[in-house]
Amino acid sequence: MSERPEEKTLAEKSPASYECRACGYVYEPSKGDSKNDIAAGTQFEDLPSNWRCPVCGARSNVFVNIGATGAPSGFEENLNYGFGVNRLTPKQKNLLIFGALALGFLFFISLYGLN
Ligand SMILES: [Zn+2]
Repeated sequence: MSERPEEKTLAEKSPASYECRACGYVYEPSKGDSKNDIAAGTQFEDLPSNWRCPVCGARSNVFVNIGATGAPSGFEENLNYGFGVNRLTPKQKNLLIFGALALGFLFFISLYGLN
């Protein structure tokens, strides 16, 4: 019962990174936070309640889940689009643009297929 390999995206399996809305610092669980003595591998949820952004000192409730960094696009990233469109990284913007182009191209080709 422990194996359900294809049901989760890579982004869901990987630990989520969190971005500071105040300064843009990104907490990555795989790196931890050496400035605050947080060991690598510490999940954001497991950070001490008095943990603060190492760059600007903002409280942890200022941070937003930006999904796993470096993983293919997953559901978590999509959820963030609702309130995070203006904070898209260049990589995410390219993904949106080329995704739309690819869809348009496929639609164009399908018109030829009708004849
Ligand atoms: Zn910050």
